[in-house]
Parts: sequence; structure tokens; C-alpha cells
Amino acid sequence: MKLTNHAKIELPAIVGNEGFARAAVAAFCTPLSPSLEEINDIKTAVSEAVTNVIVHAYPGSSGMVHIEVAVYDDNVITITVTDDGVGLFDVAQAKKPFYTTKSAEEHSGMGFTIMEAFMDELDVRSEQGRGTAVMMRKTIKQHA
Ligand code: ATP
Ligand code: MG
Repeated sequence: MKLTNHAKIELPAIVGNEGFARAAVAAFCTPLSPSLEEINDIKTAVSEAVTNVIVHAYPGSSGMVHIEVAVYDDNVITITVTDDGVGLFDVAQAKKPFYTTKSAEEHSGMGFTIMEAFMDELDVRSEQGRGTAVMMRKTIKQHA
């Protein structure tokens, strides 16, 4: 696969930046001519990943969200959302539907499940005390 385009976005992990991150990634994908459904899937997945950093990665402190977007062969998009926060205790458990470390009123524990459903591939790597990297991939269908 040949890298045909890429971008990096870094911004403080604050609630007000989630919309920008989502819109920026969507705008970056526009030249690939995704369908409305594909772009909505990407926006939702980015929103879940970035919101997780904002909500979970830096409890009681501040930190950054790092987003890397890459396009291969003009139609495969990879999005990596990374933080330098607390990390995950158990990645397999965190990916399970309805698993949350927050109160059920606030969070349903569906973020990773949504990312997995809306993208073709989800890969989560984490080290406690070092941070978390969430890589997602989606192939954009060629529209005539
Ligand atoms: P929802 O996304 O439905 O609002 P949630 O964020 O709790 O709820 P998931 O997004 O599936 O659910 O995440 C599951 C759990 O994984 C979280 O409750 C949190 O404990 C942990 N987690 C997710 N992302 C991170 C992160 N970037 N850093 C540290 N912990 C994380
Ligand atoms: Mg979440």
C-alpha cells in the first residue's frame, strides 16, 4: 500500500475541541469522495475516540490529544488517536459492550463497540501510566 496523503492534529484534551477534531478529520477525507454514510461513520468513530481521551485519559490533570490521519492508495484511511494519559488496565475488557469505569448515568460503555462497528478495523494499544493509542481503518468504496 502506498501512502498518498497524511495529516497530524494536536490539541488539548478539552470538551470544546471534540467538534473541531471530528470536523477536521471529515474535511481531510472529503477528497476521497466518501458517501454520506461513510463520512458519518468516520465522524462518529473519531468523536468516540477523542471523547475517550477527554473523559478518561487525564483524570484531574490536563493533556493533549494526538490525531494522525493517513490515506493509502487513495482509498484506505487510517486514523490514530493517541494520548499520554493513564492508560487502560485491560484492553480486552474495555472493548466489551457496556463496560465503563464511569457511572451508568453518564456513560454507557459503548464507545469502543461503536468504533469497531463503524470502522473496518480497530486496534487498541495501551500501557498503564504511559497512554493509549487507538488505530482505526476504513476503506472508502469507489463511487462512480
Ligand atoms: P461511552 O463511550 O459509551 O460514553 P465509555 O467511554 O465508558 O462510555 P468506552 O468508550 O467503550 O466506554 O470505553 C470503555 C472504558 O475504557 C472507559 O470507561 C475507560 O475506563 C476506558 N478508556 C477508554 N479510552 C481511554 C483512554 N484514552 N484512556 C484511559 N482509559 C480509557
Ligand atoms: Mg467512550
